[in-house]
Amino acid sequence: MKRIAVYAGSFDPVTYGHIDIIERAAKIFDQIVVAVAHNAKKGSLFSVEERVSMIKEVTSNIPNVKVDDFAGLAVNYVSESGANVLIRGLRMVSDFEYEFQMALTNRKLNEKIETIFLMPNEAYSYLSSTLIKEAASLGADIGNFVPAFIAKRLKEKLKAKG
Ligand code: ADP
Repeated sequence: MKRIAVYAGSFDPVTYGHIDIIERAAKIFDQIVVAVAHNAKKGSLFSVEERVSMIKEVTSNIPNVKVDDFAGLAVNYVSESGANVLIRGLRMVSDFEYEFQMALTNRKLNEKIETIFLMPNEAYSYLSSTLIKEAASLGADIGNFVPAFIAKRLKEKLKAKG
């Protein structure tokens, strides 16, 4: 049986931190599904389609990675994908409380699904899409945080948004 794991999140946009987690997960599981959440509440900068396409581009060299999007509960998406593992990344202690709460809630919603946490290389442990967007909007060079083509798209997007 194929061991499939879903790495769900907003990925607005995907960063070197997310990529690090995807690479680690791809070594452990037969297939990783990176799943972009439709989350109207979060007010994302990039559309779901744009986020999916950027992730496809940065993971094109990893054969066992698939990219998709989902609406609704992550646990429902995980079981519909034939998976029983939800991957999340843990950067620092500050992530812990929220992730712990969410993992236990998800377990109550579907006890067959396990959440597995992976830690990125410490060089990426401070990266967040939110901070990168903020830095980019203030004119910072974000080349150390995201691949070059994403930095370019982020710049264009911010310009278009005014
Ligand atoms: P969400 O909006 O669901 O938190 P994100 O796209 O921000 O989605 O993140 C998806 C997952 O990846 C979360 O578990 C988050 O903690 C993790 N993550 C985000 N940035 C990093 C990073 N720099 N290193 C490791 N994990 C990360």
